Amino acid sequence: MTWTNEPDRQQTGTATMAKPALPVLQLVGVSKRFDGFTAVDDISLDIREGEFLTIVGPSGSGKTTLLRMLAGLEQPSDGNITLRGTLINDLPPRARPTCLVFQSLALFPHMTVGRNVEFPLKAKGVAAAIRKERALELLRMVRLPESYYGKNVMTCSGGERQRVALARAFAYDPDVLFFDEPLSALDYKLKKLLEKELKDLHKESGKTFVYITHSLEEAMVMSDRIGVMRAGKLVQVGSPEAIYGAPQTRFVAEFLGEVNVFGASLEGTGWVAETSGEPIRLVLPKPLAGASKAAVVVRPEYMKFLADPGDADNAVRGVIYNEYSLGSRIQYQVRAGDRVFLVEMSRAQARPGAGSGEVLIGWNAADAIVVEA
Ligand code: ATP
Repeated sequence: MTWTNEPDRQQTGTATMAKPALPVLQLVGVSKRFDGFTAVDDISLDIREGEFLTIVGPSGSGKTTLLRMLAGLEQPSDGNITLRGTLINDLPPRARPTCLVFQSLALFPHMTVGRNVEFPLKAKGVAAAIRKERALELLRMVRLPESYYGKNVMTCSGGERQRVALARAFAYDPDVLFFDEPLSALDYKLKKLLEKELKDLHKESGKTFVYITHSLEEAMVMSDRIGVMRAGKLVQVGSPEAIYGAPQTRFVAEFLGEVNVFGASLEGTGWVAETSGEPIRLVLPKPLAGASKAAVVVRPEYMKFLADPGDADNAVRGVIYNEYSLGSRIQYQVRAGDRVFLVEMSRAQARPGAGSGEVLIGWNAADAIVVEA
């Protein structure tokens, strides 16, 4: 499958229909094998000019290997990578208009912030006064005070060093910036701040950002599109809303945080949840044509407590056995037979008196997602 421009994002008016822009980077059937082990498996993907694309996936799914091929640090075993239409499979990193920012940053210790940022300009032979002017501009861009120009980089905090690395990456003036989990070593609050700043920086610079992370939350905050990898394959690519709201497989649904997922089977003309205890008859939004088995996904925020079974399309009787505070939200765990359902709501909507006892929970058919079993 080739992940290209989705029709919903293109101009479709007949009179003004624009030719889709050439992707800045294009992968066609790209694979990478190490001693017979396939780390990246037949990936085809168009990376659009100016987009913020994030690749997420569990550890070992091939994200770094994919990024290293895009940056020129590895050559594909199969397939082609083109940059604006030119084949670049064997082009070394320094000959590509791209720059990689990674977690370890690779800043020059014992050098000032300014000299770190100016390094790419010096290598290009830019005059000292112009270098300094540009470095100060870049420091402002990454929200570091100009006074940091003369500061030793080793005396900067983790977050500040991250900003220095970003400023240096921008000093190369690349067309595409690659990010390999640059925020993973930072504490939660700083990470949240930098996620937003990175998104702003993307918008202000107009450059193409390709970012990899384990964290779907990080991907959701920043990206125009998210690609999900599993065992070397790209299993779904789409907007954060599409990935969250319309996962195509159980794997993608489950990767996107805590969800209710259960098997369902066709019994006679109706669907029943595969669970012990009282059979749960299901009203599904769209049963799979011709299938007799499916997996049903219901996000905890779409589950609710019911006063009466008729208050939602699907109703389940269960017992609350746990309640967790998630900050502004509360999550209830409701046991029904051998199954645990998660019900989540804002603290303001929290069910008064919840915490124990038998409850009726349910969801509407339109709020469920049906995927292949
Ligand atoms: P993580 O999130 O843990 O960094 P990842 O999704 O980035 O993982 P990769 O680093 O791309 O995954 O690795 C994918 C698979 O390829 C792993 O099983 C890894 O051991 C293997 N691999 C990566 N590089 C090499 C190499 N140079 N030689 C042999 N195997 C490798």
